[in-house]
Amino acid sequence: MVRPLMLHRQGWIEVICGCMFSGKTEELIRRVRTALIAKQKVQLFNSKIDTRYGLDSITSHNQTKVAALCVKSSGEILPLVEKDTQVVAIDEINFFDKGIVDVCTTLANNGKRVIVAGLDLDYRAEPFEVTAALLAKAEYITKNQAVCTRCGNPASFTQRISKDKKRIVVGTTDAYQARCRRCFKKPRT
Ligand code: ADP
Ligand code: MG
Ligand code: ZN
Repeated sequence: MVRPLMLHRQGWIEVICGCMFSGKTEELIRRVRTALIAKQKVQLFNSKIDTRYGLDSITSHNQTKVAALCVKSSGEILPLVEKDTQVVAIDEINFFDKGIVDVCTTLANNGKRVIVAGLDLDYRAEPFEVTAALLAKAEYITKNQAVCTRCGNPASFTQRISKDKKRIVVGTTDAYQARCRRCFKKPRT
């Protein structure tokens, strides 16, 4: 007898991480699209801090776009997730407060497939704590590379071009470049 793959509706956490321009959002959107084709109920969330492409959708750097709910803090997510939702996807987890780790855990414990995407490292190549915690707690992890804008090798670091010293500065190619380990220069503090 062939056993069903999932005896009970089993939840889990998937993390997609990497530097800027590494295709995290593209991969998140791809997984969401596949779930939608399988007629699963999906809810997609983004942080209100990410104002790059409007507040009702998630857009990758190649302009692929899907509808999303934008929230200010992790506490807003659980009340918005509907009972029959099977997949919860969250982009830019590095923009969220540390409560996002418990939110993802609760959702997975409640049988949801949780897919999150975000930066593993900040512009000084220090780990974002929420991403680090979620990587440790996830069942499945994917680390993407971009192309180094200097030498063309695989890039895992995000070089900030502006002189800004805040940890979170929202920007795209105007403010950041993907760099490999050799070409990345850690900013001085
Ligand atoms: P992320 O969410 O990881 O920042 P996106 O999924 O939004 O990345 O965008 C990935 C897309 O960015 C690539 O498919 C490509 O079109 C574009 N891109 C721009 N600069 C680079 C780069 N240096 N390396 C790879 N892709 C890049
Ligand atoms: Mg992205
Ligand atoms: Zn390089």
